[in-house]
Amino acid sequence: MSVEYNKEHPIPVPALHPDNQGFWEGVERQELVLQRCKGCGTWSHPPRPMCPKCRSQEREWSPASGKGTVYSWVTYREAPHPGFKAPYSVVLVELEEGVRLVSNLVGVGPEEIAIGMPVEVVFDQVNDETLLPKFRKAG
Ligand SMILES: [Zn+2]
Repeated sequence: MSVEYNKEHPIPVPALHPDNQGFWEGVERQELVLQRCKGCGTWSHPPRPMCPKCRSQEREWSPASGKGTVYSWVTYREAPHPGFKAPYSVVLVELEEGVRLVSNLVGVGPEEIAIGMPVEVVFDQVNDETLLPKFRKAG
């Protein structure tokens, strides 16, 4: 089961700003890229203007493995927005790079989700304008 959308209501879409633009440009290319500090190599997500470790403002967008594990999840039994159809699950994926990404699973029902489940990124065209990084069960 994946997230189903109510086509009669637009879903909230990501707001672009200078700090996250590189992330969403990567998604448009169907590539998961993450912000990385040019000074010390620390990965950051969500993107931010300054490295949390060394405070450098020199950053770059680096390709991520797209692999991780489910760190936590929640299943909505009632949709919090009219654009979504319940039930659906939101997962917090811990990527191999050590950062966490909020997303959804594709092809995995709520009863199958488990902490530590290995997952890999896929890109889901949720409407005409919006492509989102989501995750499927890996190997
Ligand atoms: Zn740094």
